[in-house]
Order: sequence, then C-alpha cells, then structure tokens
Amino acid sequence: MSGKPLLERSRQAVWHPCTQMKSHEQLPLVPLSRGEGIWLYDEHGRRLLDGVSSWWVNLFGHCNPRINDAISEQLETLEHAMLAGFTHEPVVQLSERLSALTGRALGHAFYASDGASATEIALKMSMHAWRNQGRSGKTRFLSLSGSYHGETVGALAVTDVALFRDAYAPLIQAGATVMSPDARAAEEGESAADVAERAALELEHYLDEHHDDIAAFIVEPLVQGACGMAMYDPHYLQRVRELCNRYEVHLIADEIAVGCGRTGTFFACEQADIWPDFICLSKGISGGYLPLSLVLTTDDIYTCFYDDDVRRGFLHSHSYTGNALACRAALATLDIFDKDSVLEANRRRATLLGNASHVAFAKHPRVRHLRQRGMIVAFDVADADAGFSTRYFQNALDRELLLRPLGNTVYFMPPYIVESDDITHLVDGALKALDATLTS
Ligand SMILES: *Cc1c(COP(=O)(O)O)cnc(C)c1O
Repeated sequence: MSGKPLLERSRQAVWHPCTQMKSHEQLPLVPLSRGEGIWLYDEHGRRLLDGVSSWWVNLFGHCNPRINDAISEQLETLEHAMLAGFTHEPVVQLSERLSALTGRALGHAFYASDGASATEIALKMSMHAWRNQGRSGKTRFLSLSGSYHGETVGALAVTDVALFRDAYAPLIQAGATVMSPDARAAEEGESAADVAERAALELEHYLDEHHDDIAAFIVEPLVQGACGMAMYDPHYLQRVRELCNRYEVHLIADEIAVGCGRTGTFFACEQADIWPDFICLSKGISGGYLPLSLVLTTDDIYTCFYDDDVRRGFLHSHSYTGNALACRAALATLDIFDKDSVLEANRRRATLLGNASHVAFAKHPRVRHLRQRGMIVAFDVADADAGFSTRYFQNALDRELLLRPLGNTVYFMPPYIVESDDITHLVDGALKALDATLTS
C-alpha cells in the first residue's frame, strides 16, 4: 500500500473499539506483525507478553500449531454453509461435547458469533419460553450492579457499566439491578460468604415483590469481569439457584469470560454445584481464533418451543450460525483440554501466579484487595488518578507486557500456557510498571 506507516493508515481507515480515537494523536497504536505462543511481536521486532489473553479470548497461545492444523484441515473440507436446513460434523460434535461437559443438564446448543448476541439470544429465549407457557407477563430482566453482558442495544439492557450504558440510554429498556455479592464489600467481621448471603437476601426481597414480571436473572458466575474483576463466594450462586426455582425465574449464567476453565473448573457454575437454565459461552471457546458464541439450554426450555406452529419456534436468524471453521477451532480447543489435562495443569499455574503476585504486591503500599480465582489475579490501586489505566498500559508496553487495567484495577489473565519464566516476566514487569505509573 502507501509508504505511510501502518499505524497512520489504521488511524485513518480503522475505527478502533473502546477507544477515543483522538487519544492516538499522542499514544501510538501498536502495529503487530505476528504472534507465537504467549508472545505478540510488533513491526520493530519488539515482543509483548500477552497478559490479558487478547481481551480474554486466547487460551493456548497465538498461532497454536494444533488449532492451526485443525482449521487448515477444515478449510479444505467445508468452510461454511447455512445452518437452517443443513448440518455438519463440527457443529454436531461441538454441541454433543459441550452437552457432555454439563452432564447433559444443558443438552441443546444455539449458535451465534459474538458474546453480546449470546446474551440477547438467552434473553429472547427466556421471555419466549415463558410466553409459550402462557406467562406473557414475564418480560423483564434482572442483573447485578456492575454487570457486563455485552454492548449491543439489547445486551446493554442488562449491562450496568455507566460509561457504556449512559450514552445510549434513550435506546435501552434497562432492567433492574440488585446488589453485587462482590467480596470487597465485606464489612468489619464479615466473610465473603456473609456478603454473598447479604446479597442473596436482597435478591430474595426483590424477587418476592417482582417475580411475576421477571423472566430471567442474568449473572457472571464467580467473577464480574468488566466492572473490575469483582470476585465473590460460590455460596451466592447456590442461593440464586434456590431463589430462581422458588420464584419461577430463569437463571442465565454468562460464562463468556469465566467459562472454558478460566476460574478453575470448565464452567464457573460447577464450583457452586449448580446448573443454570442457560449458559452463554464465547471468547475462549474457539481458542481465541474465530468469532463464535453459543447458548446452551435445558430440555425443559427446548420443549417449550417444540410445536407445529412456527411462531412458537425460537426466532433468531444469523448468517454465520454454526460456522464450520469456528466450530472446528472450538473442537481443537476442547481436544487440548482433554489431551493436556489442562484444568489440572492450570492448578499448578494458578498457584505459581498467585504466589508470585503475593510476593510482589501483597505488601505494596498502594495495593488493595489482591485477589485470585483460578487463572485470574487482580488488585486495586489506591488513589489512582483518571489517567492511571492509560499510563499503566504504556509503562507495561515499555516492559514487554500487554496489560490493560480496568480503571484502577490491574489484572492478569494469561493464556493457559504461561510457564514459570513467563510468570516472572509478567509479575516483575507489572510491578515495575506500577511504580513507574505512580511516580510519573
Ligand atoms: C466480553 C463479554 C461479553 C460480550 O462479548 P462480545 O463478544 O465482546 O460481544 C459478554 N459478557 C461477558 C461476561 C463478557 O466478558
């Protein structure tokens, strides 16, 4: 193309996500040329350790040979075909394997491409399932304060992050929110389980009054990601399951970020020993290769739609539903989980990451609430100013690290190939970047 550098051309032609484009007058975009394992390389040969799995999607490193091979093979066989009236091996196998991972509790898979669409599909299915049962008053949704379920207009109805929601408020039919069980809200003498119980009581009050209107309660199980890695006790999910049963409200588990082993079990809900009525999956499910999302649901929900009348069927059409390449990438991802006993190996990785983080940050004068759930470690920085996140990101880049704090919350969410040396690089660099950011 032209002789202009890639980042100049990008600023002109590409509108980047979650970005004030004017900020790139000062901050250069990073022109990536390739990726390999945990590393990304820029055009100048500089390497960056991908400490956030490229926005939480990459599970087994960049250009993973096993996923590459699976996609190449699929590319030579069937790249994509419409899924209405047609089917193919990758989509069937993926659905069967995911169903098996839920112990067949959620045996029906509906596909889309992005996480926000999975949220919308679950919301639509929930409301429509109630209507098909003669409960047409159940049309509203409930979420947690600080919830994040995507940024399309429908998903924003259950997303409680002011920055993303307020600008588009006139378009949104916002649902109600209830108190988050975030363990950081513990008062003197309260445990994380106590906070969970307190939040459950508030939910109980809310449902007691409003359950006739509420179709579903949607939660991010164990970790509320986008609002700043708020972690909570599994007890909350047990109480939620109980209350949703009692008040006849569907439970939607948005496992888009926390699923696929991120919190230590394949599904985060397993740690509470419950199954929801819907599970949303995306991000890691394709290994971070291709856009793929899906909603898993139960026989009970599926049966509500099974009828001779087309209007009682689930109505959601998406051109790329069940894309064969993306499903094949997902199958290769699940193969790696099996063959490498990834959940078990991650327990060792999580311990190393947790220990190193503890040594570096636990006694740091500006660090608060150092916390971990599986392969997520996070802490908050006291008295951080408004520019903290951007400056931290830059300071991390200078130390060969990709880290992108959420406000004043610094977090590590590395791919499941992170080894001892990488952890040293990650934690040392993160500490140096913190001190550099706080003194600049
Ligand atoms: C990222 C995310 C989404 C939205 O997924 P997109 O693919 O970005 O639309 C929804 N819910 C949670 C919990 C997420 O982390």
